[in-house]
Amino acid sequence: MTTREDCLAQDQADPLASLRELFDLPEGCLYLDGNSLGVLPRATARRVQQVVTEEWGRDLIKSWNTAGWIDLPQRIGNKIGRLIGAGDNEVVVADSTSVNLYKVLMAAARLQRERSPQRRVLVSERSNFPTDLYIAQSVCEAMGWELQLLEAHEIEGGLAPEVAVLMLTHVNYRTGRMHDMAHLTSRAHEAGALTVWDLAHSAGAVPVDLLGADADFAVGCGYKYLNGGPGAPAFVWAHPRHAGRFSQPLSGWLGHVAPFEFTPHYTPAAGIARYLCGTPPVISLAALECGVDTVLAAEPVGGMAALRAKSVALTTLFAELVDTRCAGLGLSIVSPRDAALRGSQVCLTCTEGSYAIVQALIARQVIGDFRAGDARTPDILRFGFTPLYCRFVDVWDAVEQLREVLQSGEWRRPEFNRRHAVT
Ligand SMILES: *Cc1c(COP(=O)(O)O)cnc(C)c1O
Repeated sequence: MTTREDCLAQDQADPLASLRELFDLPEGCLYLDGNSLGVLPRATARRVQQVVTEEWGRDLIKSWNTAGWIDLPQRIGNKIGRLIGAGDNEVVVADSTSVNLYKVLMAAARLQRERSPQRRVLVSERSNFPTDLYIAQSVCEAMGWELQLLEAHEIEGGLAPEVAVLMLTHVNYRTGRMHDMAHLTSRAHEAGALTVWDLAHSAGAVPVDLLGADADFAVGCGYKYLNGGPGAPAFVWAHPRHAGRFSQPLSGWLGHVAPFEFTPHYTPAAGIARYLCGTPPVISLAALECGVDTVLAAEPVGGMAALRAKSVALTTLFAELVDTRCAGLGLSIVSPRDAALRGSQVCLTCTEGSYAIVQALIARQVIGDFRAGDARTPDILRFGFTPLYCRFVDVWDAVEQLREVLQSGEWRRPEFNRRHAVT
């Protein structure tokens, strides 16, 4: 049976341990919510201040050229590309995940309308993140298509001849279950469908190989495992075979082949640059770049493979300790037991009081989050483990706090049972 001393020894032996120093973690805080909002990197405040006071304050509009502001979407896109198996100049940073999803779904839809107009179904997973489903609804409305929502195990069998696009989030936001991207993409292609992957819970957390999987389109989030800060810009990728061929619907001037010629007619840029829309948010991009750099800082010590190995060790330890130290307290593990099927999070359900338990943990400085269930799915206590800054001893201490919250019944206190606007 694992002890706290074993966890300390694992931290001692961890080749990634020093990466934690890249972050400003509040004293005493056990942060298990990097899957929702990554921690502030040490470099960010200074870099943002420099952008504000020097690049903006002093150099003003010259900075579009002299500080390279105009190149930030591509420059940071290339850095993210290294984490997701994309080639150079295949990724740009722009807008939000929701907006990018709209762009790539419409591009995929236009492609299919030309190639196989009889295909009029978009397939996704019923428990996909709501914004993905809402955007898919909007695309289906625009195209006169039908949105078909399946359970994870029904997807492979659901790739019927009328399916035009399969849109999935690689790692499920509620359960942490990870799809086999290469396998499902190949099945979708055999069935004549295109694939759109949302990497919100994958980029910076699990190895992704978009080109290796032969995926068609992908989007992802900057403020989760990429540590870009609240509302950080998102990214978008299109396979080179599609990127330059179909226009996305938000034909803004920065996706134009020559924005500074100010011509009245839209001609899209070659390649992925056409997925840009309007003026990039420079200050947010500067913060995002600092966040992406924290993940790239793992490259000399094994990169994404090493981060994944630690992430698997952390989530496996958490599950083991919940089983052994919290036995009989009403908890059960919702995430897959098999680490190969799991992203970097572990989700629990409890027989009662899930929201209040999370609140009681937050009061003890153990930060996870709560996701409400519905008729089909239970309420969930969600714990994300970012291998860049999460230690093995943090896992031990968090489970001890969870055990105390449950054993003492302190979660029943009224202050933990009042709902906040953001859960
Ligand atoms: C976090 C997340 C989003 C966020 O979308 P925004 O446009 O940034 O609000 C979208 N999809 C998934 C699957 C997510 O996990």
